[in-house]
This record gives sequence, structure tokens and C-alpha cells, in this order.
Amino acid sequence: MTQEYRITLLPGDGIGPEIMAVTVEILKTIEAQHHINFTFQEALIGGAALDAAGHPLPDETLEKCRNSDAVLLAAIGGYKWDTLPRNLRPETGLLGLRSGLELFANLRPATILPQLIDASSLKREVVEGVDLMVVRELTGGIYFGQPRGVFATESGEQRGVNTMAYRESEIDRIGRVAFEAARKRNRKLCSVDKANVLEVSQLWRDRITALSAEYPDVELTHLYVDNAAMQLVRAPKQFDTIVTGNLFGDILSDIAAMLTGSIGMLPSASLGASGPGVFEPVHGSAPDIAGQDKANPLAMVLSAAMMLRYGLNQAEAADRIEAAVLQVLENGCRTTDIQSPGTTVLGCQAMGEALMKALSVSAK
Ligand code: NAD
Repeated sequence: MTQEYRITLLPGDGIGPEIMAVTVEILKTIEAQHHINFTFQEALIGGAALDAAGHPLPDETLEKCRNSDAVLLAAIGGYKWDTLPRNLRPETGLLGLRSGLELFANLRPATILPQLIDASSLKREVVEGVDLMVVRELTGGIYFGQPRGVFATESGEQRGVNTMAYRESEIDRIGRVAFEAARKRNRKLCSVDKANVLEVSQLWRDRITALSAEYPDVELTHLYVDNAAMQLVRAPKQFDTIVTGNLFGDILSDIAAMLTGSIGMLPSASLGASGPGVFEPVHGSAPDIAGQDKANPLAMVLSAAMMLRYGLNQAEAADRIEAAVLQVLENGCRTTDIQSPGTTVLGCQAMGEALMKALSVSAK
């Protein structure tokens, strides 16, 4: 039976439309072999939405996203809109989308592809074989806790306050996403906190430990965040799936991303409790190369693979797209951002065509 999915496409700004066009072609190529039928609907976000509709996230866009099975987002932003007031910045559209869809879990894989090992700033023997995923809580913790602000004290001195707070239910729901993600990987979960100092972290550790009874097939370990940061650059291969709160996750996911050394290769997923997830590359709109057919579409294509795996439960289709990415790199195809001696530099479109060729070969 053919599975039907409605996908909202948000190409956004800069290189967004170029990398989105390649990705849609890839998704169309895999439909038939995997008994999938996508209905694509496009909507405006970011600077493109500001220009056309006067708001970075028009109501119509959020409505379309809500009424879909998954959302594919390319990138937003650009010089043109940088001086607008905060409520009209392209980034505000992105934050509005995340809160509007109640996306509380952010999944960021960091995989060292053997063909791109030399792009990492770490030694080959340290990063070779790294394949990890950071699951970050996205809507709680110190970025949202109350009270917050800068207040005058009795002595007249100002005091800045932020509050790190987590409810049991918030920890449980991100914990479940992380255990489920670990199940789709190598069944090892490392929970990162600061339970030696912070009460909120002790609660975090207690809840994650309690939750592990529901996932006896996943091996759970705990690390303090300072040690986790150290271990990520010392011996990253020990990690499979990492789960952590908003602040620690913000920092650790960037460290993990940089193990790979190439921003044009990094996908991400943001998931809610039940509605559609948003799947997007980690990089921005790269206005410096927009419209020049130089963008690397692979992070966007790999985001579509994450959509298939984590948003639509179509693991086989995801596997095929990821295998095609590896194949084109193996064939020596590179965009300028990841080029190295002896490889062939392709534009964004030509990279898409190379991927389509790899997919049609794997279908035979
Ligand atoms: P950026 O990620 O857009 O670019 C950083 C550098 O990496 C640039 O030199 C760019 O050319 C290169 N690069 C990025 N993606 C690439 C790709 N796919 N292929 C080849 N090269 C690539 O970050 P920035 O320059 O700091 O920001 C540019 C704009 O993007 C800003 O308006 C910023 O606010 C926005 N931004 C958006 C998002 C998002 O949409 N999620 C994330 C980060 C930045």
C-alpha cells in the first residue's frame, strides 16, 4: 500500500531555494521504490515572507505547517533584513515556528564521513568512525525559566537573574525521545547534567534513571557536563546518543558538530509530542554564495533523510538517501566548501544530479 504524506516546504532565503529544489527532486526519485507518495506544499518564512507578506511567519505558513506530516525548512536570513526591529527579523519567524509547533526536542547528529575525515580539526585517529547524536531539550531550562531579568537591589546595584528549572514531565518527554532515538541507533544513551552542583540536574538524573526501566534494551550512562565536553573532543567515539537540557545541549551540539569540520553536511530535526517535526540543515542562508549555484545541498538532503527516519518512520528510504550521499562522496564529487585535492568540484544542481544517479543505480 502506498503511504501518503503532506510535506510543507519552507525554502526561505539565500541558498535556501537552491538546496530545497535539489532535495525535492531526491524525494520524488525515491517515492516509487518505497511506496510513498508526497504532496508538497510551499510556504513563506523569513526574509522572503517579510518581503511578500510583511511578517517573517505569516499565519498561513504556520497553518500549513500544522496541517502537514512534516516540515522541511532550508534557511532564513540575509543582510537585507539585518537592521529591522527584532520582532520583524527573519529569525523571529524561525522561533515562532518552533514554539508554534511545540517542538521540544532537537536532534543533531554528528557523523564523520570517511571521505571527509580531513575536514575535521581533530586528528584522524580521534574522529575516524565518530557517529553520534545530541538530543537537546529545546523549550525549557534556563532559556525560559522564571524569574528572569535584570533587577535593582537594595544597595542600588543591578543583579541579573535567570532560572534553570525543569518539571518532571518536561524531563520525561525529552527522555522518551532520546531513548527512542537511541533505539534507532546503537542503543547507548548518555545523559549529561551537572547533578553534583545543581538540584535541577539531580531531578533530571533521577527521572532519566527511572525512565530507563521502560527501555531495558538501551544502555544508560550519566556524565557531568564539564566531563562530557572534555570527552567529546578527547574520545568522541565512546558516544552514541547524548541527551541533555537546553543550555548544555546548545554548547555540546556545537562541539559535536565541529568534530565533522564541515557545516554544509550537518542536518537536524526538531520534534514535538505528536504534530509534525521540522527538519533543517544546521547552517544558515549563506548569503555570500546565494544564487551562484555553489551551495552544498547535502545537509538539506540529509535533513530530508532525518525526516524520513524520525518524522515518518521510513527508515529504509532514509538509509537509501544516506547511502547515495556516501556514494557521491566516494565517487569524488564535492561542492567548493568540502573540496580537497583530487576531487571533482560540482555546483549545487550538478551535485543533485549526481545524487539522483546514485539513487537510480541503487534501485537496480
Ligand atoms: P551561514 O551558515 O549562513 O554561513 C557561514 C559560512 O558557511 C558562509 O561562508 C557560507 O557561505 C558557508 N556555508 C553555509 N552553508 C553552506 C552550504 N550549504 N554550502 C556551502 N557553504 C555554506 O552563517 P552566517 O553567515 O553566520 O549567517 C548568514 C545568515 O543566515 C544570517 O542572516 C543568519 O542569521 C542566518 N542563519 C540562519 C540559520 C537558520 O536558518 N537556521 C542558522 C544560522 C544562521
